[in-house]
Amino acid sequence: MKQVHEILPPGLPFGDLMDALSGVHRVYERAALEMAAFRDSSGVACPDGCGSCCESFIPDLTSLEAGYLAAFLSRAAPARALELALDGFSEAERDEPHCPFYRSDAAHCSVYEGRPLICRLFGYSGVRAKDGSSSFALCRRMDALPGRTARSWKGEDLGRELGAVPPLMSDLASELQAVRPNESPERRLLTDALPEALRKVLFLAGFGAKDPGDEPEPEPLAPMPRAG
Ligand code: SF4
Repeated sequence: MKQVHEILPPGLPFGDLMDALSGVHRVYERAALEMAAFRDSSGVACPDGCGSCCESFIPDLTSLEAGYLAAFLSRAAPARALELALDGFSEAERDEPHCPFYRSDAAHCSVYEGRPLICRLFGYSGVRAKDGSSSFALCRRMDALPGRTARSWKGEDLGRELGAVPPLMSDLASELQAVRPNESPERRLLTDALPEALRKVLFLAGFGAKDPGDEPEPEPLAPMPRAG
């Protein structure tokens, strides 16, 4: 995973916001490490080229995550960032069943390095029950693990059978919230939250005064998230 200064706009006067976005980045890094450890020890893997998680899905995210994605987009695709800040997503984009950043022709996420936590955990996230125990189930698109018939595990079986516990969305979401405890934990659809976050980020960055020119849409930045 890249360093935060490679993803977010460098040297911009974000002040407290930049500190908070660095905190978000650290949580994302931790999610990536936990996921890699789980994938390596368990053998759980998304099918090659699968983009099903994004096909009928619009992610929801907190305002801080929206700020992270907005800052990422303002660096990676300033023209698109300004367009979204001014006009929001078009009606056609909102009518699509899939995420507006999903490239269905190539099964790619076009904002891969800025995507929200929920997208980073696609396919590999466990669930924590009220009693504190965790569980994990293979996605229906995943093959069974070699030599096994079980497709779900819970409690002590999870670590024993798969060699590691998967990242838990609830735990990582709590860590995100701890980055800025006073920030609202409300989650909103990306299509609603991102334009608002972009207006704030572009205002703070002073991008609004610049002409971003006719920059093309960014190429997909990385292969489709196989859970991140
Ligand atoms: S991974 Fe990217 S394309 Fe897929 S739902 Fe998340 S933001 Fe959208």
